[in-house]
Amino acid sequence: MAETLVLGYKKLMEKVKRMFILGSAASIVHWDMETKMPPKGIRLRSEQLALLSRVGHKMSTDPEVGSLLEKIIKHPGYDELSEIQKRNVYLIKKEYDEQTKLPEELVAETAKQRAITVDVWKKAKAAKDFSMFKPELEKMVDLRKKAAEILMKVKETATPYDALIDIFEPKTSAETITRIFNELKEGLVSLIKKCQSSPKQPDVSILKRRVPVDMQRKISKSLTNFIGYDTESKQAGGRIDETEHPFTTGYYDDVRITTHYHEENFTSSIFSVLHEGGHAVYEQNLNPEWIFQPVGTGCSMGFHESQSRFVENIIGRSREFWIYYLPRLKELTGNIFSDVDLDTFIRAINRVKPSKIRIEADEVTYCLHIIIRFDIERDLFADKITVADLPEVWNQKYKEYLGVEIENDSEGVMQDTHWASGLYGYFPTYALGNIYSGQILAVMEKDLPDWRDQLAKGNFQDIKQWLVKNIHSYGDLYAPTDLIQKIAGEEISVKPYINYLNEKHSKLYRF
Ligand code: ZN
Repeated sequence: MAETLVLGYKKLMEKVKRMFILGSAASIVHWDMETKMPPKGIRLRSEQLALLSRVGHKMSTDPEVGSLLEKIIKHPGYDELSEIQKRNVYLIKKEYDEQTKLPEELVAETAKQRAITVDVWKKAKAAKDFSMFKPELEKMVDLRKKAAEILMKVKETATPYDALIDIFEPKTSAETITRIFNELKEGLVSLIKKCQSSPKQPDVSILKRRVPVDMQRKISKSLTNFIGYDTESKQAGGRIDETEHPFTTGYYDDVRITTHYHEENFTSSIFSVLHEGGHAVYEQNLNPEWIFQPVGTGCSMGFHESQSRFVENIIGRSREFWIYYLPRLKELTGNIFSDVDLDTFIRAINRVKPSKIRIEADEVTYCLHIIIRFDIERDLFADKITVADLPEVWNQKYKEYLGVEIENDSEGVMQDTHWASGLYGYFPTYALGNIYSGQILAVMEKDLPDWRDQLAKGNFQDIKQWLVKNIHSYGDLYAPTDLIQKIAGEEISVKPYINYLNEKHSKLYRF
């Protein structure tokens, strides 16, 4: 390989390494703000975060990165680079083009507006008053529309909204999502009807039994041990802390999760620990040689969700997991559940019931909440509806898709923070993750036909190793559209996920 090419690539990767290190430092500072910071620390903290973000922006728009990229791509020896090197160059160029094409003024204005809109959203939500929120949300949407128009040209997408989706789920268009979501909706609506009309309805009263926080902390530790996410030993690369909303942060050797303990709703932390643990296991099992390189990150938000939901739902809500874990849960909770049998328990944690709030939704109705949000975003960014129409459109869709009456906008259009934060194009990735998880399960069943028996014996290691080999170790070497093709031998498809849900719930609801 030509020496100038080798040197150029090496120089570029050194610059990128510094960006990753800075980014990881910023994420720890942010983690500390959410978990440990004393209240008075906020003024100093916003200065720290603002400086880190300014330095980060400067590094990622450094003209030298641009000239190194150009020299590498135009070099006659470019084809001699390996697949991994080419992917790194591609990902660096993508990020550089996007960062440099967005005017600094627009970026700064959006950051400022984000703080204002989130603040007003909190107040408007508490006051159940959309009219308070509306003017600030309109400004936020206009700013994201401006960014989307610019990004659409850089990314060469068909529509501005496609450019926003591409930030989270590369190469996936609203047109494709509309097609697969229509199919998903049809399958879910028919399954929900079957569950609701079954005479065998679950008894969920056991889920309200009070479990002290100390006991729940022990349950969390045993769950992270079970999935092989070490938060306790001297070599641990993880830890669990407590925040209002659970999240995962970090990568490779330092990945942290948070959860929230509700004494009257103990399964909330069980499933959030399994969910965030699924994200953490993904981040810790990326190819170790790729640390500080763009290929050494998760493939997409959709793939990340496929891993968290795989552990939370496909594993954590399965009969086999609870064959193993219910006796352990009983041991850890004194006599609280001594009278509860396996059947009652798994039917309770798998109850299907349409509701108003996304984050409280069950495995089956969850995606309908997402489809509603996707439909609205797509039409909003295509100027088919306006911000003023949102409450009415929202309520009408909840009635149509879920049969639920929304009584006020706080439990309706203002329930999530995403739109206030300027996150458009993000919601669909939650449902895409579920769809991928169904395809991944179908392939895993062929490779590990006895996975359910293993799980019932308390062995998650084979499943984990399979996920590491087939998904985690690829990092961001492929776009999600290519990775699903590589894993499943087909493009994204709803059928395996619908089949999985039907099979599971036909047993639970006896239809
Ligand atoms: Zn998640």
